[in-house]
Amino acid sequence: MCVAAQTWYCLCSSLIGYAYQESQDMPLLNTSSNGDSSVNRLLATLPKNEYKRLLPKLKTVSLVLGEVLYEPGAAIKYVYFPNDSIISLISELSEASLLEVGMVGNEGMAGLAVFMGVNSSSTRALVQGAGTAMRMSSAAVRTEANRLGNLHHLLHRYSHSLLAQVSQSCACNRFHFVDARLARWLLMTKDRLGAEEFPLTQEFLASMLGVRREGVSKAAGALQAAKLIRYSRGIITVLNRRGLEAKSCECYAIIKAETDAYLN
Ligand SMILES: [Zn+2]
Repeated sequence: MCVAAQTWYCLCSSLIGYAYQESQDMPLLNTSSNGDSSVNRLLATLPKNEYKRLLPKLKTVSLVLGEVLYEPGAAIKYVYFPNDSIISLISELSEASLLEVGMVGNEGMAGLAVFMGVNSSSTRALVQGAGTAMRMSSAAVRTEANRLGNLHHLLHRYSHSLLAQVSQSCACNRFHFVDARLARWLLMTKDRLGAEEFPLTQEFLASMLGVRREGVSKAAGALQAAKLIRYSRGIITVLNRRGLEAKSCECYAIIKAETDAYLN
């Protein structure tokens, strides 16, 4: 793990402590794809018989805030289907320059490079929302990709959805104001965690948005003054979702529409 990753790890782990756990528990099949934050929507979209066939290859794991699942250039051993956790895809230009280029929640899978036929990614996969995920070995993903079944089909569609998210985020980071980007990011996080409040430090937010901490502080202060959020002691609480949607740039709606379309 590089120095920057260790710094992230220490920073985030200090919030809640490190306690990586694994469980042999298997999830019950849930065929709904209505955004239930307790299940992975991609897996829930699979036909029952295919899901049952995949179950022995899936393992429920608990992901801890700040945990690094894979590093840029390193072999990806496992892919992750988040249930109620969130994984950020981080681009690192230098040790002092980090930016979130993609967000993976219950709508998708982290480790898409494996499905694409390569062993590593150019981004770091960092847990930015603690919770559970379904883990599958990269070898099993390659086998499934060759079966050309529903999972293969869904991962193809998800690839397009994630590419759309990354493309939109790229334009957003270049052209939109920080407070609108912060509103978008909070909405995307809230959707995937299924929670009204979540722990966040200003340092973390600054790196997610690629701005200085002072910029995040000013933007968060404006949202708080408008009574859209409450930010206290490292905890963000969404008070007014509709107001936050109005404050966000159009990127939130565009990304959400792409996500919903691929699952439906
Ligand atoms: Zn935007």
